[in-house]
Amino acid sequence: DATMRLAVRVARLGTRFVLLLADDRTEAHRLDEVRRDFIANISHELKTPIASVSLLAEALDHAADEPEQVRRFAHRLSAESKRLGHITGEVIELSRLQARDALRPDVLLDVDRIVAAAVDQNRVVAAAKGVEVRVRAKSRAEVYGDEALLVVAVHNLVANAIAYSSEGGRVGVGVRVDGDAVEISVADQGIGIATEDLDRVFERFYRVDQARSRNTGGSGLGLSIVKHTVQNHGGDVRVWSRPGKGSTFTIRLPLAERPVPVVDATAPAD
Ligand code: ADP
Repeated sequence: DATMRLAVRVARLGTRFVLLLADDRTEAHRLDEVRRDFIANISHELKTPIASVSLLAEALDHAADEPEQVRRFAHRLSAESKRLGHITGEVIELSRLQARDALRPDVLLDVDRIVAAAVDQNRVVAAAKGVEVRVRAKSRAEVYGDEALLVVAVHNLVANAIAYSSEGGRVGVGVRVDGDAVEISVADQGIGIATEDLDRVFERFYRVDQARSRNTGGSGLGLSIVKHTVQNHGGDVRVWSRPGKGSTFTIRLPLAERPVPVVDATAPAD
């Protein structure tokens, strides 16, 4: 009887081992596909600006004695080069995030500081578009993480909220504690996202409306970077949206410890 039980256990373990191996192989295969897709996408994304740069350089050569034309071509050349630089930067950032041990989130960070830095970086763009960005922090919270990466993640959400708002729109950034997590939400009253696109906006290079997104200088990598960063920190990111009404993106991160209540800075300390 005991021998029988042992045999069954060994058989079970064997099955589990085989399943594990199979699982590993499927995972390797999936990663391979993802990698292939990624490279195909980058090549495609880089082709257009590279072709433009080359055409513009040629046009410049021909327009040598027409200063107005030269200025126009030079201006566009500079814009296309910037776009190339932007895409390349994001690709590097994303591959860094996807490297398995890219991140050791072990520094205690103040969420308010992360949000303030991300909003600050968007001030000029917001002002140029007449968009008002307001921060409302209900509680102060701390998380463990990589500050630079988290600032980039929040920055990307705020930048999108401004980019997809109409002139004079409003963007609200909120911080609140919910259970053992802190939620950072970025809400706009902009164009919104159709239901069928909602699941896909976090995919690399996905853009709802290619032409419109290109006008905003987007690469389709911003939200993918947000997703990877947040997942690397043990959190997640969600989106709510209604076309024509606006969108709210919410990042959830595990709290480092119990939240610190907001204190009135003007009250005398005891
Ligand atoms: P991009 O650099 O093109 O903005 P993202 O990955 O940041 O790329 O976003 C992917 C797509 O999701 C965008 O092209 C846009 O269509 C849509 N999107 C992102 N944020 C918003 C928003 N706040 N409002 C409406 N659409 C958005």
